[in-house]
Amino acid sequence: MPEHRLQPTEPCRSCRAPIVWAKTRQPTPLPIDPEPSEHGNIAIYLEDGVLHANVILKAQRQALNAAGRPLYIAHFVSCPHANDWRKR
Ligand SMILES: [Zn+2]
Repeated sequence: MPEHRLQPTEPCRSCRAPIVWAKTRQPTPLPIDPEPSEHGNIAIYLEDGVLHANVILKAQRQALNAAGRPLYIAHFVSCPHANDWRKR
């Protein structure tokens, strides 16, 4: 689903894979893989041109999948250097 690829991307500081930063309800932004994942648990929406991430519950996931809504995963799940992320 290339049309659902998020941008702008920037390279992960650990593995150089492209990631996007999205705002959350937390003070720190969340690094997200730009390609949707069938195991994704993060819905992305645009607000004032800024990406926002919404972590969704398992129960909502099926409904969103059925609606064809792309879901994404946090990069620290897929990053090969995930341990670096947990240390920070
Ligand atoms: Zn990485």
